[in-house]
Amino acid sequence: MGVLQEKPRRLGGGQTRCPHCGLLQDRVATLEQDWVLLEPDMHPLAHTVPAEHRWIELSDGRVTVYGVCPPDQFQRCRIEHRLACPAQPLPDLWPWLTSLRGENARQAERRDDPKPPLPPEEWPDAG
Ligand SMILES: [Zn+2]
Repeated sequence: MGVLQEKPRRLGGGQTRCPHCGLLQDRVATLEQDWVLLEPDMHPLAHTVPAEHRWIELSDGRVTVYGVCPPDQFQRCRIEHRLACPAQPLPDLWPWLTSLRGENARQAERRDDPKPPLPPEEWPDAG
């Protein structure tokens, strides 16, 4: 019957099941001697992915964050499974937008503050 325990691929990688959703994810070595869990068979164009989340494959099979800015128009990349995992909250992909939204929320709150116009009798006597 089906062999689930796939033989580790290059550099000891392989596939593991996500503990959150149970789907398969690729375990790939990074240049930083670490591991990252990538979404299998998913190679979006790099410029459609936020900069810190673009992983590109090197010739030896390891991956690293694609730091070229602006990204090459045709460069494909890989993404971490956690971005695609249906059982995990989406991380903050666009931090500058999040802070802009926070700033706007504060502005909107200030606008909503009910401030009745000053009653005329409190105006200083301009005579
Ligand atoms: Zn998952």
